[in-house]
Amino acid sequence: MALSESRILMIDDHIDLAEDLMEILEGVGATVAHARTGAEALELARTPFDVALLDVKLPDATGLELLPKLRAAGDGLAEILLVTGHASIEDAIEAVKAGAYAYVLKPFNPDELLVDVERALRQVRSTREAETLRQTLGEREARLRILVKTVQALLIEMDPEGVILQANPAACHAVGITSGDLLGRNWIEEFIPEKEWREAIGLLRRVAGEGAEIHRESRIVSSAGGRTRERWVSWTLSRLHEEDAEPGQGVRIYASGIETTEVKRLERRSRVTEKLAAVGTLAAGLAHEIRNPLNAATLQLRLLERGLRRLDEAAEPLTEPLGLVQDELGRLSRLLHEFLTFARPGELQTMRVELGSVATKVVGLEGPAAEEAGVTVNLQLPKGPLEIEADREKVYQILFNLVHNAVEAMRGEGGQVEVILEEAEGGARLRVNDNGPGIPEENLSRIFEPFFSTKPGGTGLGMAIVHSLVSVHGGTIEVHSQGEGTQVEVFLPETPPTVAGAN
Ligand code: ADP
Ligand code: MG
Repeated sequence: MALSESRILMIDDHIDLAEDLMEILEGVGATVAHARTGAEALELARTPFDVALLDVKLPDATGLELLPKLRAAGDGLAEILLVTGHASIEDAIEAVKAGAYAYVLKPFNPDELLVDVERALRQVRSTREAETLRQTLGEREARLRILVKTVQALLIEMDPEGVILQANPAACHAVGITSGDLLGRNWIEEFIPEKEWREAIGLLRRVAGEGAEIHRESRIVSSAGGRTRERWVSWTLSRLHEEDAEPGQGVRIYASGIETTEVKRLERRSRVTEKLAAVGTLAAGLAHEIRNPLNAATLQLRLLERGLRRLDEAAEPLTEPLGLVQDELGRLSRLLHEFLTFARPGELQTMRVELGSVATKVVGLEGPAAEEAGVTVNLQLPKGPLEIEADREKVYQILFNLVHNAVEAMRGEGGQVEVILEEAEGGARLRVNDNGPGIPEENLSRIFEPFFSTKPGGTGLGMAIVHSLVSVHGGTIEVHSQGEGTQVEVFLPETPPTVAGAN
């Protein structure tokens, strides 16, 4: 800001002196406004100015009285030079204390005065620049804060031991903290499953020590409303750059994370669906190949049996092996049937189905097998009939497979199966609970995969069939197994979705 672009306020009741000064200042291009009294000066100060030359003695005020008011005018950053004819050291000190930029003695050398004014202008300019910078920084920081606050990613700053120094609302929310913050709490000890502590501590040490940036997917424990839940988060861990750290601060680690629980669930689902589709085509093809010769063989066997019977005693040694072959063919035929149910669930043949009667039939038929396994099966029905629109055969199959698995899980060990039917919003809920060994976590995500079985001789198709039959009804299935037993919950809607092209 050269003199030529500045606005100078001159407050002096000595007209001659003022006119001389104005001439000098205007000579170098400054804009000068002149006031004769304090009141006039305050009036003029409403228009922003850069530097004021203020006479110590005015008709209506002293310069010292006016000084703070002038300083407060405008953006509060203008500088004021006090001008006086008779000065003492005390006056000068007083003036500077009151905030004057300089104390100029009359009569003055015009060149020297210009130097003083220019210096004051430079001062004004640098304070204004600093102020603008401060404001920009403040705004930028505020914007960053909003970003950190509203972003969905979890952002945490912690020390190498996992003690939290800062955390954004998304991070608080993810672990179920809705009020207060996480400051000073230990992220690892409080929010990571205990079996993963060692790994987490190792990771933090690596980031702190080597400064490596590490990406890792891991679980966090969140508790809300008395319920704890595990969620998956994909993390990026990095160390704060030394040049960004304040001196004396220890190493700090930044963790930013994106929740992936839902993504993982969907991935798992689509894996199952993909396999189902592939296996479906394969099984359908196989079924064609096998069914015809199987039927032909069964027919021929029956003829053979009839012929043998006519031979009376001579045939005796042959009836037993014949029976065995027939049994084996029967087994093969059932397996084929299971394949087909799974691979081609067929069109939904819907009707009003009273679920209680279906469940009663399942429990009745599974009864002998359960008894033999040392397992009791209890059925809890709602008071009245529970009817939905569904495919009776398929609902039967769903319940049968679930009860069958529950009984098999406790074979020999004994136990109880609870089959519970209840009304639910928009449909019905079927629950099959057992107090067997449960399903280990690593298997839980795989039980719907076709051919996944932990049983010797298991087909691994039971749950896959259940999944596919529940899906064609537009229902949902959830399997819980944590600690004691296994709980399966199936929801079937009041009416299944209309099959595309069905009408
Ligand atoms: P299969 O019964 O032929 O093994 P399924 O698809 O019916 O095939 O079941 C798959 C696997 O799921 C079983 O092998 C078993 O490990 C597990 N499973 C299913 N239901 C239960 C249950 N109620 N308790 C324990 N494990 C179960
Ligand atoms: Mg099974």
